Amino acid sequence: MRIAVIGGGVGGVLAAMRLSSAHDVMLYEPGRLGLGPAYGTASPNHLLNVRAEGMSLSMPQPHDFVDWLGASYDAHEFVPRQVFGQYVQARFSEFQATAENPIRVVTETVTAVRPGFRVSHAGGQDSADAVVVAVGNFPPSSPSFVPSDLGIPYYFENPWQIEPEALAELRSITLIGSGLTAVDIAADALVRFPSLHISLVSRHGLLPGSHAEDLGKCERDLASLLDCRSVRQMTKVLRALITDSDAPWQYGFDRLRLMTQQLWLQLSLADRRRFLRHLQVYWDIHRHRVAPQLYRLIDQAQQDRRLQVVAGRVTRMEVGGLEVHLRGGRGTIKWATDAVVNCTGPGSLARAKSPLIHQMVAEGLLVPDELGLGVAADAIGETTPGVYVLGSLRKGELWETTALRVIREQAYALGDHLK
Ligand SMILES: Cc1cc2nc3c(=O)[nH]c(=O)nc-3n(C[C@H](O)[C@H](O)[C@H](O)COP(=O)(O)OP(=O)(O)OC[C@H]3O[C@@H](n4cnc5c(N)ncnc54)[C@H](O)[C@@H]3O)c2cc1C
Repeated sequence: MRIAVIGGGVGGVLAAMRLSSAHDVMLYEPGRLGLGPAYGTASPNHLLNVRAEGMSLSMPQPHDFVDWLGASYDAHEFVPRQVFGQYVQARFSEFQATAENPIRVVTETVTAVRPGFRVSHAGGQDSADAVVVAVGNFPPSSPSFVPSDLGIPYYFENPWQIEPEALAELRSITLIGSGLTAVDIAADALVRFPSLHISLVSRHGLLPGSHAEDLGKCERDLASLLDCRSVRQMTKVLRALITDSDAPWQYGFDRLRLMTQQLWLQLSLADRRRFLRHLQVYWDIHRHRVAPQLYRLIDQAQQDRRLQVVAGRVTRMEVGGLEVHLRGGRGTIKWATDAVVNCTGPGSLARAKSPLIHQMVAEGLLVPDELGLGVAADAIGETTPGVYVLGSLRKGELWETTALRVIREQAYALGDHLK
C-alpha cells in the first residue's frame, strides 16, 4: 500500500517508521521533522514534564532515550525538550540510512485530502491507499474577548511562535491561562528577562502541581475505580484512595494515568461532559505536572512579587490594559500591561485553525466525536475506511492521548494492524 502520513511530529515520525517496513510511506511535514511545538522550542529552559526514563521512542527498548543520552543526563532527570527533539531526529536519520524502503519525506503542508485518496499540497498532488492524520494539537485560537485588531508586539496569539527576543524590552506581560503552557512561557521569561513582571490570569487561578521530589511508586491498588460507573463515584473513590495513603498524591496520579483511558471509556457522554465542565481544571493541575525545579522557580517568583496569579474572567482587553472580573464576586480590576500572550491551549475541533481538518470533516473523511474535541475512531484509530488518526485528535474518545507513551503505543498498534 501507499500510505500518506500527514504531520511529522514525533507521532507521525513513529507511525511512518512502523509502517514503512511493509508499505511505501510518504510523510508530510512543512517544519522540522520530529519536533512539533513541544520539542521544537528554542529555549533550554523548557523541560520535559516526564523523566528521561519515560521518554523512549522504542517500546521493546524502554531505556533507548536514556542510552542515547549517555552520561550527559541521569535517567530520573527532566531533560530540556530540545534535547529530546535531537534524539528523535537522530533516531529518524539512523532509520532512514539503514531502511530497505526509506520514507519519502515531503516538506509541504497538506491542504486537502479527497476521497480515494488524493493528497494535495503546494508541491502537487499524490495518491494514497490509506491516510494517517497525525497533526497534533490544533494551534491555539484567541478567546472571544480578544479584539481582532490587536497585533504583535502587543498580543501573541500563539505562544509557541514568540521570537526569543520579542519580550526583551518589556516591563510587564500578562499570560491568559495558568496551565503548562503559561508556566513554560513564564519560566523562560523569568530566567531570561530579570526585570520583567509577569501576571497569569485564569478562571480558577490554579497552577500545575509539581512532580514528587523523591522517586517512588504508588503501591496502592486503584482497581476499585474500575467498578465505579459515574464520574462522581470515581472522584470520591480516588480521593479516598489517595488521602488514605502515606505516599505523595503524585504517586496515585501516576498509577491512575495507566487506567485513565479505561475509566474514560466507562463514562457516559453526560458524565464526560460533567467532567469537562466541573473537574477538568482540577484534573489538569494534578495530572499535567511540572518538574520540581520549574515549580520552585515559579514559587520563588511569586514570593519575590515578580509573578502574580489572578483568578478571574477577562472581560475587556485593549492595547495597554486588561479588565478582569475577579473570581468569587470580588469585583472588577484593571491593570496595565505591555503585552498579552494567549496561553489558553488548543481549542475544539470546530475552532481548529486547520483548513485540512475542516475540509476532511466536510467531505466525510473525518467524523467529529460527540464532545467535539477531536475525531471518532475505532480502537486502532480508524475514523472512516482507510483514514486513521493518532494522538490529540483522539482526545474526545480516549481523553489520555497526548503523552509520548500513549502516542507511541498508538503508532506501534497501527503498524501491527496494517502489516
Ligand atoms: C509544550 C508541550 C510540552 C510537552 N511535553 C511533553 C513531555 O514532556 N512528555 C510527553 O510525553 N509529552 C509531552 N507533550 C505532549 C506532546 O503533545 C507529545 O509528546 C507529542 O509532541 C505530540 O506529537 P504529535 O506528533 O502528535 O504532534 P505534534 O508534535 O504537534 O506534531 C504535529 C505536526 O503536524 C504538522 N502538521 C499540522 N498540520 C499539517 C498539515 N496540514 N500538513 C502537514 N503537516 C501538518 C505540524 O507541523 C507538526 O509538526 C508536550 C506537549 C506540549 C505542547
